[in-house]
Parts: sequence; structure tokens; C-alpha cells
Amino acid sequence: MSKIGVLSLQGGVEEHLELLSQIEGVEPLAVKKKDDILKVDGLILPGGESTTIGKLLDIFDLKDTIVSRANAGIPLWGTCAGMILLAKEIDGEKSHLNLMDIKVRRNGYGNQLDSFKREVSIPKVSNKAIPLVFIRAPFVEEVGPSTEILLKLDGKIVGVEEENLLATSFHPELENDLSFHKYFVNKVKKSSYSNLKIAK
Ligand code: GLN
Repeated sequence: MSKIGVLSLQGGVEEHLELLSQIEGVEPLAVKKKDDILKVDGLILPGGESTTIGKLLDIFDLKDTIVSRANAGIPLWGTCAGMILLAKEIDGEKSHLNLMDIKVRRNGYGNQLDSFKREVSIPKVSNKAIPLVFIRAPFVEEVGPSTEILLKLDGKIVGVEEENLLATSFHPELENDLSFHKYFVNKVKKSSYSNLKIAK
């Protein structure tokens, strides 16, 4: 059984927990406290409002625990606001968790295209097209040398992976398609952290 947490301070928490509960071998957990972070094998940082979630991480003193667990190898997946939380650089603002070698631009799609849906094929994730929802989404402006680009849409980078870290500008949890969640669950099952636990 893999325990997968969803950071439950603000934002689209329930939808992630619901999709995780549909995947065999997964025990979803709403993560609110330090103790919860220590229990999970992987953690999803949901969409919402990154400045609010960032403030709440400070208020509840959760940042250091998340960072040290990420450095120990547990997979983290940031969706939308979660991507912003993971980034080492945010255009014009201070970073939050400072973990992933990406520079992001918040609300990168401006007013007109601010929310939209697209069906896209991402061969590494699934062999069928996946419906992706963008809501006042960020995009990635720059990536570091070890960041892999999973998806570029209309010339903008919207999906990235870097060792145990995964970040998407969009919200796979808002559609009834488990592809992305299964991809993350596999990442958790394959991670060196889980292997370490099994070896113990
Ligand atoms: N615009 C939000 C932010 O900058 C992100 C939106 C979302 O998570 N859907 O934090």
C-alpha cells in the first residue's frame, strides 16, 4: 500500500483525494500537520492560491518538513498553485519551497485565455489523450539542466519533471481521468525512498 498525501490547507484538495481513492494500492491522506507529512510516501500540492497556501505553510510551520522529505526522495507533485510552490524562481516574487529548478510566471495566460480545457497526448504519461483543465494557470519560463519537459502547449512549458518532483500547470484532478494520478502513483512506487523502506 502506498500512502499518498494531499496538502490540505486550501484549494482543490477533495478532487485529488477522490481520484487517488479510485486507484488500487493507494491509501489517500489529507495532510494538515507535520506528523502527516512524515507518514506519506508521496505528496500532492494542489491548486488554489499559491500566496495563501504559502502563508499557511509558514503559519503551520510545515515548509522545512516538506523540504527535508523531498530531499530524502519522496515524490512531490504540484498542480497549478502547487507548481508555483515548488519553483525555485517566481517571476517578480519570492519563492516558497524553493525545490524545483524552474522559473514560473503566475497567471501566465492573462485575462482572455485565463481558463480553458484541452485534450492532449503526453506519451510518457498515457497512450491516450488526456483532458487538461487550466485555471488562471502559471507556465514555466525557464528550466534547469536536469529538468525534463513533459509537455509544451502552444509554445509554453506546462508540465515538468525533475527526479522525484513533478509539476503541472493544469488540473488533472478536475476530470474523471486517472492517467496522471496513476503516473504519480507509479513514480511513488518506483521511488528510491519506497525502495529504501522495502529494504529495511
Ligand atoms: N493563479 C493561482 C496562483 O497564482 C493558481 C491557480 C490555480 O491553482 N488554479 O496561485
